Amino acid sequence: MSQPKEIPKNYDPIEVEERWMNTWKKEDYYFDRHSKKPQFVIDTPPPYPTGNFHIGNAFNWCYIDFIARYKRMCGYNVMFPQGWDCHGLPTEVKVEELNGITKNDVPREEFRKMCRELTLSNIEKMRKTMWRCGFSNDWSNEYITMMPEYYKKTQLSFLRMYKMGDIYQSEHPVNFCTRCGTAIAFAEVSYEDRTTKLNYFDFDGLEIATTRPELLAACVAVAVHPDDERYTSLKGKTLKVPLFGHSVKIITDEAVDPSFGSGAVMICTFGDKQDVHWWKQHKLDLRKAIDMTGRMTSIAGKYQGMTSTECREAILADMKSQGILKRQVPLDQHVGTCWRCKTPIEILSERQWFVKVHNDEILEKARQISWTPEHMRSRLENWAQQMEWDWCISRQRIFATPIPVWFCKKCGEVILPDEADLPVDPTVDKPKHVCPKCGGNEFVGETDVLDTWMDSSISVLNVTGWDGSKVPDLFPAQIRPQGHDIIRTWAFYTILRANALTGGKPWEQILVNGMVLGDDGFKMSKSRGNVIVPEEVLSKHGADAFRQWSASGAATGQDIVFSWNDITAGARFQTKMWNICRFAMMQLEKGGPESDKAEVLADRWLMHRLSQVEKDVTGFMNVYNFDGAIRVIREFARDIFADNYIELVKGRLYSDGAGRASALYALRTTIDALCRMLAPFTPFFAEECYTILTGGKSVHKQSWVDFDYVDKLALDEGDLVVKVVSEIRRYKHDAGMALNAPLGHVVVYTPFEINDGGDCASAINANVEFKCEKPKLTRAVSDVKFNFGVIGPKLRKQASGYMNAIKALPEDQILNPPKTVKVDGAEIEVIADSFEPVYSFSVEGEKVEVLTLSEDVIVTVHKN
Ligand SMILES: [Zn+2]
Ligand SMILES: [Zn+2]
Repeated sequence: MSQPKEIPKNYDPIEVEERWMNTWKKEDYYFDRHSKKPQFVIDTPPPYPTGNFHIGNAFNWCYIDFIARYKRMCGYNVMFPQGWDCHGLPTEVKVEELNGITKNDVPREEFRKMCRELTLSNIEKMRKTMWRCGFSNDWSNEYITMMPEYYKKTQLSFLRMYKMGDIYQSEHPVNFCTRCGTAIAFAEVSYEDRTTKLNYFDFDGLEIATTRPELLAACVAVAVHPDDERYTSLKGKTLKVPLFGHSVKIITDEAVDPSFGSGAVMICTFGDKQDVHWWKQHKLDLRKAIDMTGRMTSIAGKYQGMTSTECREAILADMKSQGILKRQVPLDQHVGTCWRCKTPIEILSERQWFVKVHNDEILEKARQISWTPEHMRSRLENWAQQMEWDWCISRQRIFATPIPVWFCKKCGEVILPDEADLPVDPTVDKPKHVCPKCGGNEFVGETDVLDTWMDSSISVLNVTGWDGSKVPDLFPAQIRPQGHDIIRTWAFYTILRANALTGGKPWEQILVNGMVLGDDGFKMSKSRGNVIVPEEVLSKHGADAFRQWSASGAATGQDIVFSWNDITAGARFQTKMWNICRFAMMQLEKGGPESDKAEVLADRWLMHRLSQVEKDVTGFMNVYNFDGAIRVIREFARDIFADNYIELVKGRLYSDGAGRASALYALRTTIDALCRMLAPFTPFFAEECYTILTGGKSVHKQSWVDFDYVDKLALDEGDLVVKVVSEIRRYKHDAGMALNAPLGHVVVYTPFEINDGGDCASAINANVEFKCEKPKLTRAVSDVKFNFGVIGPKLRKQASGYMNAIKALPEDQILNPPKTVKVDGAEIEVIADSFEPVYSFSVEGEKVEVLTLSEDVIVTVHKN
């Protein structure tokens, strides 16, 4: 790679970033399985391959890349693998859309093939964006969950958990989306508020209120509270269900709310979770009125085949015409919907597969993991504590990992494949053995498939090398970075699965990031028109500016608002840094002797400051406080290094004196350290500067900064010199002088000896003398300053006469004013706070101006 010979005046992030993107090699980031270094394995989230690596992903990956690059520099053998969580409904829907078919129009395998092809092309697009962002992924550890080598592990994990009794099948009510035609887990139910009607009707002489009249056919009991005196006489009686005519018992249960509706409720299979609870508790019948497509079943009689909405209208109409519908009142409702398509969920009882949820074990493992930020742990704990049902893992879809079982046609026995034969597709493959129970040799393959979380919840087992033989050497991983939106799902299920399959916790630490909001503060959505795609930012300002926004825009774990201002602030910082580096590098290139240590005060001062900054940044990096780290780096680079230090030493650098060697050393050391500290955040920019500084070395192969320099004296003295320079500059500015205008003789009276090597003098263009003593100042009143705000309103026409009289007072009376003064022959009271003396100073008879920096630091200026 040849560097441009001349250092360009302007920094062009697009040109620089694209050049490095084409130079860097993917191999540089491979995890080394034979390395002696300590491992740092990251359980990277596998995104869903939609084809768009969205801004939330990009933000999340910035965090991961900061960590990966930092840990590599700290001497770790880092694995930053990249996975793709492929299975699921969105791809099925897209394939149907693109090909104008439904999944049932083509054979299962044909449909899967179409899904796989679409997924692969989407992955390729997303890989490109990731590389453009400068992410240092380990592509040798890439995994794609739809590939046989991966889903074979998903199936193996299924078999293991089935054999240990943690997976079972059962007919049990589950959340079901009738539009998607599949069961979904509780974690996939989202809740929406809506208003519905509460319908009061006559239920065989008893008034009952319901929001779901369409479930009347599924009514299996009527419940009242045991202490509700209105119904004491009805206990144990039976009632006839209106319109349908079947008989149901009246039961009592403490959970009935006597104040809701009429205090009597009908129990249907199933209106909600409470129905499921009662159904189990009282061992009630099961009447399925709605099927998996959302239509009424045969028990609904004449309503069979209607959708549940059509059925509701029809039943209400029939109730009206029979005169049993008494009244309808509006009711606010919190309704569970499918997270994917927003259809209200039904609770349907079908044969499904479940994973046992051992809440206590999950909680125990969650407590062994270190959480950043700490409070995110409680989200998982709350979720685990409220889980009542096991995890339903079967889905009635196609593009997913097949459940690896067959059923014996004769006796129904579950037949498992040999582990060595995995992966299997039971709808295509046949078992290799006869039925162990009855000897039968005819089988039906399971057509249900696995929830995609069954694939992604073993990501950590996969990247650490789990093959079922033992707990892998690399297990547990060091860190799991992920968003707070998937704590209930991905984090929860991963802990559950790792615990079941290894008995251990999946990772030592978990880092939870927030969500990206649009620049209007709302969640990004097409309808709001506030969606920003990473490519738009990358093409305008480059990856480094984007990465700086990710680091600086919010505290770790908090939601972050997208802001073009923050992006341009990042770009401006690079411009500023480039100007400093360019200046420094041109000085270094000019040559001349360079010292191997800081000798002059300002250089020692800078080294002490740099050492402090390094410690602060390292501390922040170790706790993943990226906004703290980038803030400290930027403040140091901009305020300390550029605005103070460089302005102070320019004179020395432009001269050929002995002090130049020391300044060159300080410049080189500082630029070197800044490049290293910026390397995780702005990898392109840091690389560009570092290669110029070092004549071609890559900053990403360097170790993290480890520069320890303590010089307390230099810190105090340097701070003082810096303050003097800035006060004098302010003084020049206020006096309307050019900053480089000559100023004559300046004496700085300080409590300690200072030898600044002449930096102060050249920075302010004056003859500067530091004196470790108190100044011998003589003070005289030279003028009077009036407070017109007091004088005007009180004296009006007499104001000017009053001021003349005050001015005419002798010095001792200005300092100790008399009670009255004479104005136009009359005595006027001297008003408090109407004036103050203005002093002039002199030292040994010479007139000076005085700047008071603090109690001990006085500066006198003897203008020529
Ligand atoms: Zn749905
Ligand atoms: Zn059998």
